[in-house]
Amino acid sequence: MKAKIQEKFESLFGEEGILYASAGRINLIGEHTDYNGGYVFPGAINFGIMAAIKPNGTDKVKVYSLDFDQMSEFGLKEEDKPKEAWACYVFGVCRETIKRGGTVKGFNAVFAGDVPLGAGLSSSAALESTFAYAVNDLFNDNKIEKFELAKIGQSTEHNYCGVKCGIMDQFASIFGKEGALIRLNCKTGEYKYFPFHPKGYKLVLIDSCVKHELASSAYNKRRESCEKAAAEIKKLHPEVDFLSDAKRLWLDEVRDKISQEDFLRAEYVIGEVQRVLDVCDALERDDYETVGEMMYQTHFGLSRLYEVSCEELDFLNKLARKMDVTGSRVMGGGFGGCTINLVKEELHDIFIETAVEKFTEKFGHAPKIYEVVISDGARKL
Ligand code: ADP
Ligand code: MG
Repeated sequence: MKAKIQEKFESLFGEEGILYASAGRINLIGEHTDYNGGYVFPGAINFGIMAAIKPNGTDKVKVYSLDFDQMSEFGLKEEDKPKEAWACYVFGVCRETIKRGGTVKGFNAVFAGDVPLGAGLSSSAALESTFAYAVNDLFNDNKIEKFELAKIGQSTEHNYCGVKCGIMDQFASIFGKEGALIRLNCKTGEYKYFPFHPKGYKLVLIDSCVKHELASSAYNKRRESCEKAAAEIKKLHPEVDFLSDAKRLWLDEVRDKISQEDFLRAEYVIGEVQRVLDVCDALERDDYETVGEMMYQTHFGLSRLYEVSCEELDFLNKLARKMDVTGSRVMGGGFGGCTINLVKEELHDIFIETAVEKFTEKFGHAPKIYEVVISDGARKL
């Protein structure tokens, strides 16, 4: 990818660019916890975006997408928003940097990536992080803090791409380190690295390639349930601002005060917050069997209590269990997308083969397989 990018940069701009890269991400555990003030536990992966960039001495940006084979040119003022959707991510990063008092001048760029688009691996965050990191390095002496770089990416999605996302994707993409997952407290912003060296295991994503339409209305309903349960618990325990602050026992105390549905949603969230902590403990002991068991518990919770799974994902999860795969669960918001699987090396080939065959037989299309390794996030090459 590097050679192709530099080659294109030279042919377009007659010199070499400076290379930057960033990564997509997975989330090992901690699903639907972010808006409940709980933990998420992501890591950057070996799929990313790479860019060659060089200041051009003007006040214009010329950026070429190798994957879309398209050039976009834009100025750096609010009214200069480009028409190409992909270029809005780059423009947004420039604008959000400027809004925070940072400097951005004109530059030339060529970029490409290998994060599958829209598969739940956050190609958009990889794109934003690459440019946020580069702009900080090229024009701001790296004075903008890393957390702020992640927020620049998040605000880009909010203000220039119409996606009201949380901070996890950009956080992981900016902070990611090879062989480490990052536990982020979504309430306080505190974070901590944990070793992830699953020797003898592989991390495999199976992309169901389905997206059920329910997703956004169901998402809002889940949030409402969580808020209602938290508010009820708060009447007895004033320290509870988010569901993540509540003990499991406290939920039982309000059982008669909330609907059965809200109860189940809250039961999942409170369990999930604890599971992230349990997985972190297990990782410090290199205990990947416990990690895997927690992944299954999360899947059960998402499927039966939170009810955001679907037939395709339950099918993949059940098959993993049947084949003695160490851990498996739906990753992301649900209603489609990928399962993330922790698989012993000796089981790997037969599991993938069987999953592809059985899934295709049942659903009429093949799933996609991504082998992921926890890798570095945003960086200069
Ligand atoms: P994801 O879940 O992968 O982040 P999004 O819909 O949020 O999916 O972001 C995908 C969008 O990000 C693409 O439609 C495109 O505009 C931009 N993008 C991501 N990767 C690339 C790439 N390699 N080249 C050009 N644009 C990209
Ligand atoms: Mg995205």
